[in-house]
Amino acid sequence: MNQRDCLIIGGGVIGLATAWHLANAGARVTLLDRQSTGREASWAGGGILCPLYGWRYPASVMALAAAGMRRYPEWIARIKAQASTDPEFSQPGLLILDPLADGAHRTSVDQWVNEYRLRAEWSAADTHFSHLSTDSALWLPEIHALRNPRLLRALREVALSAGVNLIEHEAVHSLWVEGRRVRGANTPEGSLPADCVLVAAGAWTGHLVPGLTPAQVFPVRGQMLRFEAHPGIGLPTVIMDQGIYLIPRADGSVVVGSTVEHAGFDKHPTAEAQAHLHRAAIALWPNLAHAQVAQRWAGLRPGTTDERPFLGEHPTLDGLFVATGFYRNGLAMAPAAAEAMSALIQQKTPELDLSPFRLDRPGGIPPAFPMGNAE
Ligand SMILES: Cc1cc2nc3c(=O)[nH]c(=O)nc-3n(C[C@H](O)[C@H](O)[C@H](O)COP(=O)(O)OP(=O)(O)OC[C@H]3O[C@@H](n4cnc5c(N)ncnc54)[C@H](O)[C@@H]3O)c2cc1C
Repeated sequence: MNQRDCLIIGGGVIGLATAWHLANAGARVTLLDRQSTGREASWAGGGILCPLYGWRYPASVMALAAAGMRRYPEWIARIKAQASTDPEFSQPGLLILDPLADGAHRTSVDQWVNEYRLRAEWSAADTHFSHLSTDSALWLPEIHALRNPRLLRALREVALSAGVNLIEHEAVHSLWVEGRRVRGANTPEGSLPADCVLVAAGAWTGHLVPGLTPAQVFPVRGQMLRFEAHPGIGLPTVIMDQGIYLIPRADGSVVVGSTVEHAGFDKHPTAEAQAHLHRAAIALWPNLAHAQVAQRWAGLRPGTTDERPFLGEHPTLDGLFVATGFYRNGLAMAPAAAEAMSALIQQKTPELDLSPFRLDRPGGIPPAFPMGNAE
């Protein structure tokens, strides 16, 4: 690759992972975040490495997640070989209670299982845990999980070792555009020149990319809580029921999620939703009744109107790339998305078909663009 200067805006899992891949391929990479890296959705997430009720998603979304899931073991091995932080990648499996509650047919779930070559068993829930009475449960024993705040610390380490120039606590307020070409980004400290720019600013991407708006990439709040480790909790797998999931961590604590709320950029947990999560968690796993809540938080998933990420080149501005809209699955998708974006930025053909994620698809950048700030 010719030595291009790449500027990445946003140090979540997508920006950091792409920066690492690009730097490993020989690019000169600067990554800029308006705060410390890994403090937004990528920090707030649960770390389950499989879409929840994956059969409900568009096939292209599931295919991208499956590509990420397949790459994870090798990806984590490479990260662990270089980083001092352990992302706690494990295989707890995922038990989904009452998977057909939304009216889905078992055949569509079985098709999904077969298409993505997942190991799966149907049974009554009490064959796994005697206190659960649901008639139908789907057990996916090969699903992985990780402790995402630690993955983000590890990615920061490997990106730095690969030579990424990291600038934290500096916000981009606009892109530097001349005619039909992006030249870099503008911050309160001045302008940063670059040959190519990747905007990976999560739920905030719609504020930065000409042609996209905050109505097309928007925040979807998810609230979480974590029970402190307590003798006797003994949760061995991820369990999911009616949208609520419990995730065991290596230290014995249990993370509970989540809500799906359209509340703008407000990241405050609410008493009502937290009480709901707490009640639902104890109903699902009664041993939690004696454990203290150690932490409550909320994060903002980057949503799009068709639940598909925007992943690719800007249709009219040369040198501008976008990777956002990963909604509920950005951790699972990260290895595949980073590999694909790194290839595209290096002017190579990505292994994955990115056409379903084009920026100019219906609901994306309108055909009448450029207007406004690109001119
Ligand atoms: C509660 C919750 C649970 C989740 N659970 C899971 C799960 O179990 N599995 C899964 O796969 N996914 C999960 N997700 C989804 C996943 O976390 C996201 O899809 C993913 O983290 C998105 O990563 P990102 O890098 O695109 O965005 P972010 O992590 O939000 O990163 C964006 C970055 O851009 C920076 N930024 C924004 N604007 C600017 C600017 N103007 N200038 C400079 N920097 C800027 C921000 O500071 C931030 O660091 C969950 C999300 C939430 C909120």
